[in-house]
Amino acid sequence: MKDLYGRSITYLRMSVTELCNLRCRYCMPEEGVEKKEHENMLTEEEMVCAVQAAASLGVSKLRITGGEPLVKKNIVSICGRCAQIPGIREVCITTNGLLLPQLAKPLREAGVSRVNMSLDTLDAGKFAYISRVGTLDRALAGLEAALDAGFEKIKLNAVLIGGFNDDEIPALAELTRRYPIDLRFIELMPMYDSGDFGPEAYIPGTAVLEKLPELEKAEQDGGVARLYRLPGAQGNIGLISPVSAHFCAECNRLRLTADGKLKPCLHSSDEYTVKGLDYEGMRAQFEAAILGKPRWHGELSATSRSQAGRNMNQIGG
Ligand code: SAM
Ligand code: SF4
Repeated sequence: MKDLYGRSITYLRMSVTELCNLRCRYCMPEEGVEKKEHENMLTEEEMVCAVQAAASLGVSKLRITGGEPLVKKNIVSICGRCAQIPGIREVCITTNGLLLPQLAKPLREAGVSRVNMSLDTLDAGKFAYISRVGTLDRALAGLEAALDAGFEKIKLNAVLIGGFNDDEIPALAELTRRYPIDLRFIELMPMYDSGDFGPEAYIPGTAVLEKLPELEKAEQDGGVARLYRLPGAQGNIGLISPVSAHFCAECNRLRLTADGKLKPCLHSSDEYTVKGLDYEGMRAQFEAAILGKPRWHGELSATSRSQAGRNMNQIGG
């Protein structure tokens, strides 16, 4: 289905939980999130029903996210059922990777075709700092497990944080020579409460081009990242620049939060409730959300905060 500005909405990002086994400083408060009452969160049945409703309106790509989706006990079942829904051509997952050693194979067998894994640093001390509670070893074991499981595509996401990992841009980029993976650098977004990082931590995606003058332009794949490649590399380097160069004109996505709110735009507080509705009710809310999708998300810069009213873990980044 098209929105009022002619954009075909084909992509749903569904958060299955707000909870996480990490506490990344740009995403979550140190104490984690208050666990909401079970009855206020979408059930597995409701998630499947919502994806069916979305598919009936033309959504063909589903990304499962969170919070950390792999901490959800029934994640393999949710992914498997969604992969069977007529019209859903791809089920992808975004994860911090820590639980991939146990779950990569079952997820692949359930029909997940692609994995995006977050990895902001290759330094064990910095990983412990940024994630507050995680270890680099576990994340790297997750990456190895994903490589072994035979996903069609693996992408690593690194949030660019000035003074934290800008010195590691070349080392992170080197991973695309060592492995058949893409590495995407994402600009730090000024979310509702971006924790420890203020405007001084924001660096534009173009900083990557300055640090890596040998990058060559690569064929674009229709996604939101501008793609480049290191000579001889197996995968691409992507720049995702939501702050310096918003991609609203090409935005084809809707988000569904774990508590059952449809968000037509990541940076708007507009929400449409699907929790508690049946298929027809959900379908009507999807239609309303598509028609309510704003042309763009308004001013977003290093110094102006997102109007989302939620942190990233509560939306599904
Ligand atoms: N837990 C999973 C993970 O970390 O990949 C999935 C959810 S996480 C919210 C999704 C993505 O959002 C991650 O790649 C994370 O780095 C990114 N993210 C979180 N807060 C962000 C922020 N303030 N600016 C830019 N990206 C952010
Ligand atoms: Fe958890 Fe992902 Fe947020 Fe890190 S970015 S705290 S892993 S939800």
